[in-house]
This record gives sequence, structure tokens and C-alpha cells, in this order.
Amino acid sequence: MSDRNTRFETIIGKLRDNGHKITPQRMAIVRILAESLGHPSVEEIHEQIRQDFPTMSLATVYRNIVLIKSLGEVLELGFPDGSNRYDGNKPFPHPHVICIRCKKIVDPDLDSLDSMKKEVAEETDFKILNHRLDFFGICSNCMAEKV
Ligand code: ZN
Ligand code: MN
Repeated sequence: MSDRNTRFETIIGKLRDNGHKITPQRMAIVRILAESLGHPSVEEIHEQIRQDFPTMSLATVYRNIVLIKSLGEVLELGFPDGSNRYDGNKPFPHPHVICIRCKKIVDPDLDSLDSMKKEVAEETDFKILNHRLDFFGICSNCMAEKV
């Protein structure tokens, strides 16, 4: 909970520092992004927002996410089918596990990630700036439903 509050305050602070108005609508979007439960799509964020702000358009939600992304405060996970998902709770590169059936996305805790980064850098002589590591599979819920 404190983690989500910290993320909320950080994103709001960054917007304010860059001269952006903090409207109740914008705060609502930031609140959802700060939690990023399930790595929502723009459509899912819009759906949630509309409960409190029925007139807010999908385009407005999208513009705000683009703005927050430009400040480096949300991680965009793009997919070949165009379905982008967002993580404002962890805006830095980290591995994901993705269900190919229900599109659920979770963050695994990988102890080996740091050593993997080091190994890649050493083996290729690259300075690694970023990485993308996705594991695709079928979640336990979908496995249970399989007939
Ligand atoms: Zn699933
Ligand atoms: Mn994530």
C-alpha cells in the first residue's frame, strides 16, 4: 500500500514539476497507473475512470498516459497485436509472465536477473541500457478451465 502511495506521489510530483495541472481527472488516472493491478490497457483504465468521470474520453486517458510515459513514470508493454499494457507501479524494465489465453500479466521476482544482465554485458561487450524479458504461458486459472 505504501508502495502504491509512493508511486502516486512520485508521478503527481513529476507532473507538477514539469508544469502540468493536477486535475481530479488526472489524479484518478495516476491513481490507477500507480497501482497498475494486472497491467491495465488504456481501455481498461478508461473503463475504471468512467465510473467516477463518465464524460472522460478514451483519447484523454490515452493523452495522459503518453504524457506520464514521456516523464519516464510508466512502462509500456507493447505487443505485436497492438494491445499495449501499462505498468506505472514499476516504471523500470523488469520481466513479465503473460498468459496467452486471458492475457493476464504478472511480475515475477527473479533473483537471477542481475547476474543475467551482467552475463549478457560480459559476453557481448555491450553496455546494456534496457531489456525486455517476457515469459509466455498459460495461467493456473486458464489451466483449470481447460476442458
Ligand atoms: Zn490465463
Ligand atoms: Mn510489470
